[in-house]
Amino acid sequence: MSISDFRADLGDIPVEDHPRIVQQRSRDHYWYSPILKAKLDHVTAEIVVSPRSNAEVKTVLAAAFRHGVAITPRGAGTGNYGQAMPLSGGAMLNLMNMDKVLEIKPDRVRAQAGAVLEQMDHQTRESVNGELRFHPSTYRMASIGGFIAGGSGGVGSIRWGGLRNIGSILGVKVITCEENPRELDLVGEDILKVAHAYGTNGIIVEAEMPLTQAHDWVDMIVGFDDFIEACRFGGAVALQDGLLVKEVAPCAAPIPQDYFNRHKPYIRDGQSVVLLMVAPVAVDAMTLFVAHHKGEMLYRSDEASAEELKRLPPVYELAWNHTTLRALKVDPTITYLQTRYPTVAHVEKIISILGDELPMHIEVGRQDGVVMYGGLPLVRYTTEERLNEIIRIHEENGCAVFNPHRYTLEEGGMKRTDQKQLDFKREADPKGMLNPGKMIAWDDPNFDFNAGRVWLFDGLNPVN
Ligand code: FAD
Repeated sequence: MSISDFRADLGDIPVEDHPRIVQQRSRDHYWYSPILKAKLDHVTAEIVVSPRSNAEVKTVLAAAFRHGVAITPRGAGTGNYGQAMPLSGGAMLNLMNMDKVLEIKPDRVRAQAGAVLEQMDHQTRESVNGELRFHPSTYRMASIGGFIAGGSGGVGSIRWGGLRNIGSILGVKVITCEENPRELDLVGEDILKVAHAYGTNGIIVEAEMPLTQAHDWVDMIVGFDDFIEACRFGGAVALQDGLLVKEVAPCAAPIPQDYFNRHKPYIRDGQSVVLLMVAPVAVDAMTLFVAHHKGEMLYRSDEASAEELKRLPPVYELAWNHTTLRALKVDPTITYLQTRYPTVAHVEKIISILGDELPMHIEVGRQDGVVMYGGLPLVRYTTEERLNEIIRIHEENGCAVFNPHRYTLEEGGMKRTDQKQLDFKREADPKGMLNPGKMIAWDDPNFDFNAGRVWLFDGLNPVN
């Protein structure tokens, strides 16, 4: 590998090589995990390349192929698992200069990979009163390419499921890393090859996403004295077909009191809360439903003063991994897990075993049409052994864990690699230059997709 030869082939494509800036751009939010922090802290690329067009992306990828330089794509760098960290050095490929919305139709939007989700919605709202079906809570920063390659779902998943569901992404254009890079337009099931693949099998340069009708969502915070009642309420909301909601997240005390600094004054000691985003048309019905469930309406953005609206972050920035972020800001020893509780009884069981070691945060969502309780519980971290024990306790009690303390696709468990994905990588990245070290199936020819065990991958030189 020769970075200088690679660089010489880039023409006037912008390149950054100041070590401090390159190191900054070589990081994502891996530090949410004390385990990833210890493993990946020193990881850095040698340069950052920022192409402005598909043609420039092709130039970069052809040069990477020629000179054997590892390429790690990067959007806003808000991923949590070290997905966007360059394990083998080389170059970061910053896609944020490619941020244009290309086409808006009443039911869909096509944008370049670096378009920021909030900006996309801003334009689609203006033009066709539409918005993305769902978005991560990093809406104001994250890119559409990074969301597709590194995310899973978020605000809106209560109604629309996640990125893994067919129909959630309409099309992607990817560029391959070959002698003569090609543009491939993937549609239908083929999209799933690159969805949540961490950019290991092609660089996404464009994406087409479905739109739904935009609403001026009303934020609500509803209080309950008992967290399990809060979860039951959340599940009941999800089943009410007439209540149009975009977000339902029960958070157990003392999360709101200890970590929701600006909303704290609205919440009594010991109260658990449910965070809601409700369409204006459903506000009255929701108020009734809250009363039915003996919840206490603590905050409504449609009744807040201008000063409150200025001071308070939107409710979705208390939810998803923003809950974890807010906890980490107050207590840096906190970490988290990603879990799935089939029923409220499973939530109750886990709380009965782990208590305050695992302050509970649930995202009520819909998976394959079924209401489920996605967990993003906080963990009062002590040791890696204890964290593994907490994972084991979940699994023994029928609750799946998607381990956010692993940087490979397979160990993260969000998306298992399969033969199709591996075959596609062989076609799109025959030399293995794209985000090396993130796909065990590529590095280990004996990898068994169906083994169903936790893999500990240790073949990455700069990391070990
Ligand atoms: P990056 O972090 O830059 O990249 C993510 C992955 O995609 C990396 O592997 C990167 O190499 C690859 N990649 C980036 N761009 C491309 C491209 N153009 N082509 C190919 N590969 C590419 N995630 C959720 O799903 N839902 C949530 O609600 C959510 N909430 C979050 C809250 C907080 C506070 C934080 C810190 C993270 C959260 N995340 C969530 C994770 C993350 O913010 C999202 O997945 C986000 O969409 C990632 O976008 P990004 O532009 O920052 O991608």
